[in-house]
Amino acid sequence: MEFPVIETPSGIRVAVVAATPDPERLVWLAQHQDVTDHMTIEDRVPSDPGAAIVKTLLQRGHYGPFEHPTITFNIGGVSRSLMAQLTRHRIGISFDVQSLRYTRLDEIGDSDEDLEAAFAFPPYLAQDEPVRVVERRRSPWKIENPQAVRAQLTDAYRQVLKLYRQLLEAGLPAEDARLILPLGTRINLVMSVNARSLMHILDMRLPPNAQWEIRELCGALLDLAEMWMPATFRWYRENRAGKHLLAP
Ligand SMILES: Cc1cc2nc3c(=O)[nH]c(=O)nc-3n(C[C@H](O)[C@H](O)[C@H](O)COP(=O)(O)OP(=O)(O)OC[C@H]3O[C@@H](n4cnc5c(N)ncnc54)[C@H](O)[C@@H]3O)c2cc1C
Repeated sequence: MEFPVIETPSGIRVAVVAATPDPERLVWLAQHQDVTDHMTIEDRVPSDPGAAIVKTLLQRGHYGPFEHPTITFNIGGVSRSLMAQLTRHRIGISFDVQSLRYTRLDEIGDSDEDLEAAFAFPPYLAQDEPVRVVERRRSPWKIENPQAVRAQLTDAYRQVLKLYRQLLEAGLPAEDARLILPLGTRINLVMSVNARSLMHILDMRLPPNAQWEIRELCGALLDLAEMWMPATFRWYRENRAGKHLLAP
């Protein structure tokens, strides 16, 4: 199956590297073994296994068989801040993350475009009008002049990059010069996750109390997951997405 590369408003890119083929058939076969006294593979799979597993598993809260299919995403242009949140998830999930020890940022240019490609900017700072930002701890925040704040943030990133280059030129190894890089530094990563754990991450990271960047990423992950397992993630979108239900 061919998956599109999804690009979000803040410039995150998400591609599918690999995905278990026929995932809903696999889930059906796995759950069918629970109630079968011979090898499940010997039985005929229903013509619409997706509809069957929605009825027999999702509607009854039985999520174990969704641990069998796995999807691998290549996620580009997320901040180190998002990476810290995402990699807190430990179960049914694996990561490889771009190292700022082995990759250096000293070739990034100084233009606004270069800085926007290398560092994260909240999308609401692109607006011309005052904005109200709903955030968990103190809500809402009011920003009278988003463009001016964006310019301040751009300049801060520019200054840090200048210092980073100076430290490298002074002989500091990249593994130590990276200590001054901001949490907004964009990196790339590969994430493999099974369908059950993906639902759990979406449960925690899609609702409005999660941070905007990881919510944006999770919207793209859900879109791709629905292409991969249409019945499962359509049911998920209609019944659980954004509702902050606890782990399945
Ligand atoms: C809005 C929001 C704000 C957050 N703020 C903070 C913060 O300020 N500081 C901070 O440190 N973290 C914060 N977190 C991270 C959060 O506390 C979790 O560490 C993270 O989301 C991973 O969730 P998880 O443990 O459910 O996921 P996973 O690691 O994928 O675990 C999945 C499930 O497995 C079970 N499980 C896993 N490990 C264990 C275990 N050792 N013992 C028992 N059961 C286990 C649990 O049921 C768990 O839900 C925040 C998360 C959200 C969504």
